[in-house]
Amino acid sequence: MFSVTDDALHRLQVVFPEPLILAALDIIDRENVVKYETISGHVYYEVAGSTGTHTVNIGLNLGPVSSFCTCPAYIYAVLLSKSHLMCKHLLAVRLAERIHACVRRPIGQEELAVTLQHRYTNVF
Ligand SMILES: [Zn+2]
Repeated sequence: MFSVTDDALHRLQVVFPEPLILAALDIIDRENVVKYETISGHVYYEVAGSTGTHTVNIGLNLGPVSSFCTCPAYIYAVLLSKSHLMCKHLLAVRLAERIHACVRRPIGQEELAVTLQHRYTNVF
């Protein structure tokens, strides 16, 4: 399984509310962070949480937006009201990457296009 040191947890708690951290750790614990990788190196994540499965992108080059999650919390609390730095899915992805707890799945270019199109057209 995974381990997060007390020190790392403490540093997280300075920045993020505890329920958000616990929710993210719970997602990782259930191995619900799936990392999809194409041969060309395109990477995205699918995170299954209590409200369904959401697609997460990190390391984007879209000006001020460097990451994105398709869940309503991200859109309303992070992008619109700016009351949160990130949602639990995004935090789960970042933590999972740090501690190498992602479930990795290769994906074909065509499959990727279909999946992303489906995800993003259902967001708004
Ligand atoms: Zn989210």
